[in-house]
Amino acid sequence: MSKDSADSGVRCFFALWPDMETQERIAAAAALVQCGTGARPVPRENYHLTLAFVGEVAVPRLAVLRQIGRDLRAPGFTLTIDAYGYWPESEVLVATARDIPAALAEIWQRLHGALAGHALAQNRKRLRPHATLARKVTQPPVWPAMPTFEWIAREFSLVRSDLGSTQSVYTVVDSWPLLDESSKA
Ligand code: ATP
Ligand code: MG
Repeated sequence: MSKDSADSGVRCFFALWPDMETQERIAAAAALVQCGTGARPVPRENYHLTLAFVGEVAVPRLAVLRQIGRDLRAPGFTLTIDAYGYWPESEVLVATARDIPAALAEIWQRLHGALAGHALAQNRKRLRPHATLARKVTQPPVWPAMPTFEWIAREFSLVRSDLGSTQSVYTVVDSWPLLDESSKA
């Protein structure tokens, strides 16, 4: 039976999906860190920044999620990725931003609000914008200098997550533009 049949769920989340240049920058930052044995580097096609995790939904609910994406009119922004992080509780190495642009906080807030309005929200954690670079990192790495770069967010996406043999497989379901930064009132 197809995984998409109405009685099975789809695991999904809203995210910023990097363009090729940003993906390269993330990969370059990841390549500088020695994570130790057993660590699993995230394949570059999987790099993303989660805006709102939804979790498992029934396939017909995808239409609601797409509507939420379509209806959200939020400004674009530039995120300066300027730090590595090691989060021992989840054993991940991340690339993160010390400063959170107001427009990122806004889209995070609005997505969670819209999801809550449809009883689709997960427990909302605090906003910790990051791209995961490696998993199963059991020791804090030795930190190289972070090659700081700018991630220009021009759109956001609804993404589904399926179990692959070794890694999650992500598929962008749909993307919507963020409003031009320069046209902000
Ligand atoms: P895997 O679970 O296979 O190790 P993954 O965590 O990247 O990979 P998912 O579990 O499908 O894949 O999660 C998709 C995205 O949502 C990831 O960025 C993940 O960190 C984030 N995420 C997962 N669960 C939650 C949660 N409960 N709250 C907030 N974000 C979450
Ligand atoms: Mg997970």
